Amino acid sequence: MRVAELYQPHQFRLVERPASDPAPGEVQVRVEACGICGSDLHYFAEGGICGTPNVYPMVLGHEPTGSVVKPVRA
Ligand SMILES: [Zn+2]
Repeated sequence: MRVAELYQPHQFRLVERPASDPAPGEVQVRVEACGICGSDLHYFAEGGICGTPNVYPMVLGHEPTGSVVKPVRA
C-alpha cells in the first residue's frame, strides 16, 4: 500500500509498505478518505503536541473512512 509519511515538520514522502493481514477480531479497510484534525496540524507544523515530540516517520490521520476488504476471521 502507498503511505504518506511525515518524516520531519512540514515534510511528507510517499512510500510503499506491506499491508498486514488483520488479526482475529480485526478487519482490513481500504481507506477512501481521511479527516485531518487539530492534533495532526500540530504534528505537521510543530513536530509534536503538548510537549511530546513526534516519533518519525509517522502517518497522520486517525479519522478515516473506507470499505472493508477483509472481514473478521472466526
Ligand atoms: Zn483528531
